[in-house]
Amino acid sequence: MKVYKFGGASVKTPQAIENVYNIIKDENELVIVVSAIDKTTNHLERLVNYYFNGDEQKNVEFENIKKFHLDYVAEAFDGKTETVCKKLNSLFEEIAERIDGIPTDDYDFEYDSIVSYGELLSTTIFSEYLRYRGKQNKFIDIRRYMVTDSNFRDAKIDWKLSEKKVRKAFSDANNNVFVTQGFIGSDISHHTTTLGREGSDYSASSIAHIIDAESVTIWKDVPGIMNADPAWCDFAEKLDEISFHEAIELAFYGAKVIHPKTIKPIENKNIPLYVRSFKDPSAKGTVIRKLDYYLDLVPVYILKQNQVLISISPKDFSFIVEENMSNIFGLFAKYKVKVNVMQNSAIDFSASIDANNRNFDALVADLQKEYFVKYNENLQLITIRYYTDEAINRMISGHKVYMTQKSRKTARFVIE
Ligand code: ASP
Ligand code: MG
Repeated sequence: MKVYKFGGASVKTPQAIENVYNIIKDENELVIVVSAIDKTTNHLERLVNYYFNGDEQKNVEFENIKKFHLDYVAEAFDGKTETVCKKLNSLFEEIAERIDGIPTDDYDFEYDSIVSYGELLSTTIFSEYLRYRGKQNKFIDIRRYMVTDSNFRDAKIDWKLSEKKVRKAFSDANNNVFVTQGFIGSDISHHTTTLGREGSDYSASSIAHIIDAESVTIWKDVPGIMNADPAWCDFAEKLDEISFHEAIELAFYGAKVIHPKTIKPIENKNIPLYVRSFKDPSAKGTVIRKLDYYLDLVPVYILKQNQVLISISPKDFSFIVEENMSNIFGLFAKYKVKVNVMQNSAIDFSASIDANNRNFDALVADLQKEYFVKYNENLQLITIRYYTDEAINRMISGHKVYMTQKSRKTARFVIE
């Protein structure tokens, strides 16, 4: 069995769904995970907010989502929409019924029960589209098999409870092509849960782990994993292969290649992960796998924009050592402010964090009880794996540098 994951952009339009069909039409022994179409998840998030706040705008948002999907199938199925529309309409009725009611006061619970429809709609369409094109497949509502805890919006998979069920779901003597959802699951009380935004990659690798798949392929609109984001630099090139370990490092530093949680489940079972382009399906893409040799990689550049560099020094001039450190970290944890990079000297501790953190002001106020606090805004954090002098110059020359940190393989700079 192989697992293919197609993101929302890959099935954006009726033409795009045909392109995906062409990629999989000759494949068998396949689990296909499809995300919500295009920006549907964002639209559903808006719908939840209107519903939760008792705003009548919810009906407009809902009608838009409905119209988008119905127009989409009318074109993709060339008018032969009776079966698919019947299925879609029963999903729309469920949503309508929900948003007609009164929300509980648990926002995250309401969020999951509504936002999950993005994937239910897209996979219903996808499965029916394959059938329409003559490709037999089985639709799996993954919520019946993937069991999570009840931590809505960031649910954790309960491996013990899921394994047997998921394995059974994908073993069927009469079918060897399955279409299912990423991102969603359900708790033991059958309430729908989600695994966190962009969680479909993680779902795909979790299914692969459970069914002992031979590989996972994530189909994207880029040629593979690049050494830099082509959106902001013109020297980006594709990496042919990287190790599981390197992929985890890149995700940790903020590379938007794949969801950071994706690697663990497949690394455990040594299942390779391919990142390939749905725009150029004959190209090889990048493979992430276990490598038992050292890879001489070109420099890899990772940019995190919108950073705030916060500098903290004790009012009593005590050194930044264990006691102050644990105090400062305790406050960062208390306000859920994540540190991207940090450094300390005798009496100064600096940390770069993402701007727009809701708790930033509260954190600063709390810190100011014992520390002098200064901060600089509108900075960027550049990480260069496998840095060279040339690579560093390329990124920082002409910029004011606020912090520099180098380890054996990685150089990091906070710059203006
Ligand atoms: N549709 C969800 C999202 O956009 C999950 C995913 O695409 O991975 O966040
Ligand atoms: Mg998406």
